[in-house]
Amino acid sequence: MQYVKHLECVLCGKTYPASPTATTCPACGPSGILDVVFDYDAISHREDRDEVIHSTDNGLWRWMPLLPVEPDGPRGPLLPGNTPLVPAPRLAEALGVGRLWLKDEGRAPTASLKDRASAIGVAKALEVGARTVATASTGNAASSLAGACAAAGLRSVIFVPKTAAEGKVAQLLIFGATVFQVQGSYADAFRLATEAIAEQPGWYNRLSGINPYLVEGKKTCGLEIALDLNWKVPDWVVVSVGDGCTVAGIARAFIELKRIGWIDRVPRILGVQAAGSRAIADAFATERYAPGGEDTIADGIAVGEPRNWIKAVTRIKATGGTFTLVTDDEIREAMRLTGRLTGVFAEPAAGAAVAGLQKATVQGIIGKSDSVAVVVSGSGLKDVRRAIEAAGAPLKVQPTIEAVRAALPPMN
Ligand SMILES: [Zn+2]
Repeated sequence: MQYVKHLECVLCGKTYPASPTATTCPACGPSGILDVVFDYDAISHREDRDEVIHSTDNGLWRWMPLLPVEPDGPRGPLLPGNTPLVPAPRLAEALGVGRLWLKDEGRAPTASLKDRASAIGVAKALEVGARTVATASTGNAASSLAGACAAAGLRSVIFVPKTAAEGKVAQLLIFGATVFQVQGSYADAFRLATEAIAEQPGWYNRLSGINPYLVEGKKTCGLEIALDLNWKVPDWVVVSVGDGCTVAGIARAFIELKRIGWIDRVPRILGVQAAGSRAIADAFATERYAPGGEDTIADGIAVGEPRNWIKAVTRIKATGGTFTLVTDDEIREAMRLTGRLTGVFAEPAAGAAVAGLQKATVQGIIGKSDSVAVVVSGSGLKDVRRAIEAAGAPLKVQPTIEAVRAALPPMN
């Protein structure tokens, strides 16, 4: 917290002290999301980007000057961050872009980008001495919180919608979470979690829509992309969008790095939504927000009432970026293509990002010589049913070599 000045409401601009249990602006209600404001002048004067490279802190904690936690405060033992930025030249050629990298967040401790936010959530919970952390999630935020809590010896209470992928629910149960599978939508699960947290004194609130600190953890994914490319950022960074929190965090990373002089330009951010769950893309295009559907195979971005739409829209605009929409068929095709041409197994929400890039090249938004980093937000192993749907069935053969010879397809 050495550089945190205060919290500021994205709607009315009112400021509040950075208390660890802060949620939304009391004056504006649930839409008054708070932003953490750092003293960027002090950071740029006192911190050196080379120190980050050589930081003795591991994982996301190397970004301590830009994080809202105490440098010597308590932290959980799981260590997110430092996921690989995988060069993807064959996929670049297939999609028609100059250079392409995949930030493979499937390699995080519980196999998704949300581990970055949960590490901050658990650090904050430990800071206030909470014993229970609660959240609602489409799946990945929940499984990451459950893992981080299990590692830190905290109880996690999780509300998931009935559409949550089996692999993610399995993670929750294995990590010992108390799991409520709400027979309703994500919006129902969110509302129920909010009500339950309000009733239970001492529960720490890890709802990423309203906890102002979690997005700062997600930000480290963008910070790492800049570091991985030796501070020479790509032309575009592509992020799939559900609640809006992740894309807002990643956009913020580059805006902050430019502000403190560690990079010389901000990449444009391409937000990608599913055609059946497009509330933020519509708000971006029309400048009017209305809740939308949750109809997509990409459960991680199936969010009808996104809490962070304001941050997502303003931050993407600030980068000069835009949105694309993709269908479920395009997501399945992108999952296959990504796996075959890179060896990275993307979950549907991450396949959506690749599909969005593909669409943006067809639409002429992203050009043939542009360099692009795509955030692969989670592992395909989290949603095996959707992966099999996308990739088709194996060759079934009798246990004889003749059957194998007869069934073997030609090499392509
Ligand atoms: Zn406000």
